[in-house]
Amino acid sequence: MSSMSLTEMARCLRTSRALQRYLDGEADDLTAARVAAHLEECRRCGLQAQTYRAIKQALRGGNVDELALHRLRAFSGSLTASDPNADDDRW
Ligand SMILES: [Zn+2]
Repeated sequence: MSSMSLTEMARCLRTSRALQRYLDGEADDLTAARVAAHLEECRRCGLQAQTYRAIKQALRGGNVDELALHRLRAFSGSLTASDPNADDDRW
């Protein structure tokens, strides 16, 4: 952390606080411009924004629940093991 200046750390903190609002399109113009500029220059915050976006996209598409359901089915299948195919990818 010593390589990071106090100003940079304060910017990262402010950015991460405003990030959700920014991605939801709820941040005011000034905040949105500051966040966008910081995401361009800060790799760490840029990655954080990418992660948030991916999560939001997955939630919107319902992929998360489907994946969870699929895992649950695969898991219960491996418990009963009546299906010969279940043995192939047992956890
Ligand atoms: Zn940052």
